[in-house]
Amino acid sequence: EAKRHGRNRVAFFDPQLREAMAERLRLQTDLRRALEHDELSLHYQAQVDTCTGALTGIEALLRWEHPTLGAISPATFVPVAEESGLIVPIGRWVIGEACRQFAAWRQEGFDGVCIAVNLSVRQTRDEQLPAFIDAVLDTHAMPPGCLELEITESVLMEQTDLAIALLTRLRARGLRLAIDDFGTGYSSMAYLQRLPIDTLKIDMAFVREIPGDGEAITTAILAMAHQLGLGVVAEGVETQAQHDFLREAGCEQIQGYRIARPLPPEAFLLRWGARAQA
Ligand code: C2E
Ligand code: MG
Ligand code: MG
Ligand code: MG
Repeated sequence: EAKRHGRNRVAFFDPQLREAMAERLRLQTDLRRALEHDELSLHYQAQVDTCTGALTGIEALLRWEHPTLGAISPATFVPVAEESGLIVPIGRWVIGEACRQFAAWRQEGFDGVCIAVNLSVRQTRDEQLPAFIDAVLDTHAMPPGCLELEITESVLMEQTDLAIALLTRLRARGLRLAIDDFGTGYSSMAYLQRLPIDTLKIDMAFVREIPGDGEAITTAILAMAHQLGLGVVAEGVETQAQHDFLREAGCEQIQGYRIARPLPPEAFLLRWGARAQA
C-alpha cells in the first residue's frame, strides 16, 4: 500500500508525466470535435503487383488536420482514440468514407482492386459492426469482396475468442481479412489456423533490413504464407534493392514509398486512375 501510494505520488508530481497526460486529455477533447468539424480525412496508398506494377489494392489511411496544431500523425492520435472509445465512431466514419470514395472511383478502371481499411481492436468489440458494414456496402452497391479489413496481431491477443468470432462473421459475409504488421506481434501462429485470413502484410521492420537481416525472415514468412494459401503484401518498400529482392523471393504484392506515398483522393486518382494508366 505504501509502495503504491509512493508511486502515485511520484507520478502526480512528475511534471513531464503530468504534461503528457494533459496533452492526451487535450487531444481526446479535440478529437471528439474533429469528426463533426470535418478535420478528419483519408489518404490512399497503392498496393501493386510486384512484377507488373499494376494496382492491386488501395489502403485508406486516416489523417487529422488539427485547427491549431496542424497535421497530427495517426501513430499519435489513434491510440488516444482507442483509449477513449472514440475509435468506434471514427472507425465507422473511415469505413463509410473509404467505401463512398471507392464506389465513386468504380468507373476509373479499378476493377479487381479492393479497398483496405485498418480496424482497431476496440472495433472488434462492436457487436453492431457487421450490420453497419452491410448497410455501407448496400448503400454503395459494393460487393463485400472489395473491402479488406486490416487487423494487427494485437487484435488477436486481447479478447481472442470474441475477436475471432466477430471476424469470422465478417469473413463469412465475403469481406477480406488481412493481418497487418505481421511478424512483430506477440501472438502465436495458432490464430492463422483459427482465422479465415486472406492476406499477410509483412511488417516494414523486416523490409527495412533488406538487403541484410530482413531477408531470411521475409523468405520464411513467404514460404509459410504460400503453404497456407495466403496472399502476401510487403509494406514499407522504399528502395529498388528491396523491390528486386521481393520480386525474386516471390512476394506478389508490395506497398511503400518506392511505389507511391499515401495521397489525397484527387492526387491518387491522377496517379492511378484509368486516364493516368492510358
Ligand atoms: P499501417 O496500417 O501499418 O500503415 C502503414 C504506415 O506506414 C502508414 O503510416 C504509411 O503512411 C506508412 N508507410 C507506407 N509506406 C511507407 C514506406 O515506404 N516507408 C515508411 N517509413 N512508411 C511507410 P500512417 O499513415 O502514419 O499510419 C500509421 C498507423 O496508424 C497505421 O499503420 C495504422 O496502424 C494506423 N492507422 C492509420 N489509419 C487508421 C485508421 O483508419 N484506423 C485505425 N484503427 N488505425 C489507423
Ligand atoms: Mg494497415
Ligand atoms: Mg499497413
Ligand atoms: Mg503495417
